[in-house]
Amino acid sequence: MKLLLTHIFFIVCFSLSLFSKNIIFTQEEKDYLSKQPIVTVAMMPDFTPFSYYLEDTPVGFEHDLLKIISKRTGIRFEKRIDNWTTIYSAFKNKEIDMISSISHKEYREPFTTFTQSYYDIPIIVFVRDDFGEYKGLKSLEGKKIGVLKDVFYIKELEKIDTLNLIFYDSYEQIAKDLVFGKIDVLLQNLTNINALIKKHLYTNITIASELILPNTKNEDLRFGIQPENLVLSSIIQKTINSISEKEKEALATKWIGSIKEFRGGHIELNKDEIAYLDSKPIKYCIHPNGMPFEGLNQNGKHTGMSSDYYNLFEKMLSANFELIKTKNWSQSLEYVLASKCSMLALGMETPERKKHLNFTSYYLDVPLVVATRVDVPFINHILDLENEKIGIIKDDAFVKILRSKYPSITLVEVNNIYDGLDKVKSGEHFAYIDTLASIGYEFQSKYFGELKIAGKISESLKLSMAVNKEEKILLNILQKTINKVTNELHREIFSKWIPIKYEKGIDYNLIIAILLSSLFLLLLIIYWNTKIITANKLLKKAKKDIEGKNKELEQLAITDPLTNLYNRRKLEELLKNELNRNERFNHKFCLVIGDIDNFKNINDKYGHQIGDKVLIQIAMLLKSNLRKTDFVARFGGEEFIIVYPESNIDIIYKLIEKVRLKIENHSIEGIKNSTMSFGLTQTKNGDTYNSLIKRADKALYEAKNKGKNQTLINT
Ligand code: GH3
Ligand code: MG
Ligand code: MG
Repeated sequence: MKLLLTHIFFIVCFSLSLFSKNIIFTQEEKDYLSKQPIVTVAMMPDFTPFSYYLEDTPVGFEHDLLKIISKRTGIRFEKRIDNWTTIYSAFKNKEIDMISSISHKEYREPFTTFTQSYYDIPIIVFVRDDFGEYKGLKSLEGKKIGVLKDVFYIKELEKIDTLNLIFYDSYEQIAKDLVFGKIDVLLQNLTNINALIKKHLYTNITIASELILPNTKNEDLRFGIQPENLVLSSIIQKTINSISEKEKEALATKWIGSIKEFRGGHIELNKDEIAYLDSKPIKYCIHPNGMPFEGLNQNGKHTGMSSDYYNLFEKMLSANFELIKTKNWSQSLEYVLASKCSMLALGMETPERKKHLNFTSYYLDVPLVVATRVDVPFINHILDLENEKIGIIKDDAFVKILRSKYPSITLVEVNNIYDGLDKVKSGEHFAYIDTLASIGYEFQSKYFGELKIAGKISESLKLSMAVNKEEKILLNILQKTINKVTNELHREIFSKWIPIKYEKGIDYNLIIAILLSSLFLLLLIIYWNTKIITANKLLKKAKKDIEGKNKELEQLAITDPLTNLYNRRKLEELLKNELNRNERFNHKFCLVIGDIDNFKNINDKYGHQIGDKVLIQIAMLLKSNLRKTDFVARFGGEEFIIVYPESNIDIIYKLIEKVRLKIENHSIEGIKNSTMSFGLTQTKNGDTYNSLIKRADKALYEAKNKGKNQTLINT
């Protein structure tokens, strides 16, 4: 258990360390930085979006990158902004410490230490919208292809004979010629042309594909540093390494944002499909109340995750989608079946629906979670919910699936998510099942502090596009489109609609915190349970020990420690019991007092220890000659009393005589044999403890007087 807690501790620490990536500098580097060095860095004025001017201010990806480095190291950068030829030769002449936007080339190595690339720019095949289907380099045969004359991959291009290359000095000119039809194709890096498209609002240029050349890597942007300045290059590299993926993404989104619009790639369609898209807009229906997946905003426009997908699909397909509005989800289902719209933007495939609709593969996969009140413990599995009322949205495709899979769970249909969550809040339902997205979306405003996500169930909601059975061509078009959507893009859309809530509010952190703390509590409970079980075991053992000790004490309280016979106290108790019984049932019994003769002499002659030994042996002799019901006690120093219940005095007399002889004949090495005198009596009506003993004692007294070593009776 301790081990488990330690593990959790380390996992938490490890996760924290991921967020605070500290740069570890060597002593030499620290010394260098402590001087707050000023480093000259060369940059370009027109390398959009990395380094360029916006209203007289130099801005761009690289300027932001330098800001981060500055912040983390304390280095102050003095920027020298000029065209490439000028800054490149100044760097070669060692007039400048550092240069940006430099690609790695072997011939530059003697005068440059390269950092790793901070951005790789893809080379893109740009075409006009009317280009038609693009099927790789083959499609470029016979076309006029515009390209920059000194671009780094030019040699690779020239190796391909079939290409009709037209060389340009500036990419601005190539773009212009493509827009106005002087050439058919333009090959250039994505960022440059992207920036131009934005600047001039060119509308008829599109991306056909990324250009992959056999021996060419994408243009890699790096910092170059004077090779003599090893400390600086190491500091810059370490600092670039410390920039997280998230920070890099933020930089790319800020400066190269529109790249995303093209990332889905171009969809290759056949003639029928193209004709289909040309003939009419694609009419689709949505769930008007299904945020964050989809819904209508205040202006009645499609919003949510599916709207982002549809904007993207429109671009990828150059098609028009037209939303047919409905009042609710049921009406959307009606409409698609009645061909009032051709498809549903998002729907879960179920056997029932498959009878009337075709489904693409799913493009959203959302975990299902269980919302409960905050005081409910962590839920490991849906079966933990047995015997409880669980809300789930009416008509939800999931109701049937969960019902057939988990028949022992009581699912109660609710009208909508609010109804579901309210019933959990009021205690009417124990839990509510829905997607993490929907519940997370609602938790940010309402229910905070009252409800929590208590667990995740193994099923997830897989959402596809559902298409009317008649629309086979449309189904194919949509499937092709979904196939082209990259995981990255899926992630972007998903995280746009869920993490917005994470960042602004508490939700995501809250969900994680709640899940973690629930887990922690669970572990704590297990921990305490084990502790309690151990404690109980110890208690049981202690109890047993005490009981043992008590028995021992009890034993001690009634035993004479030297001889192990009953002591006088026990004798009194037993004897009184026996007298009571005697009175009630008129049973008679015998009692004898025995006293060792001349015992004082033994002590005197051999010492007290030997005296003890004699006492012990005589006690053993007395005890071993008892019947089952008889009992013997040490009455005092060398005096013993034996009680014989329900007995005849003549028989007992004989019995005692036998014992007396045994004692007389019992020898202990080196000691003179002892003898013993006995006074015997039998109970009479009205006898008490004292009267009985007194009578026996009288007989003993007489036995002593008559010469000892004999048994006398007094009745
Ligand atoms: P009598 O035959 O008349 O009984 O003579 P006696 O010497 O046996 O009787 P007396 O009462 O004069 O002496 C009893 C002695 O028993 C005195 C005492 O020192 C000894 N005694 C009593 N209890 C113990 C004991 O626990 N251990 C030992 N070693 N001696 C004991
Ligand atoms: Mg005595
Ligand atoms: Mg004696």
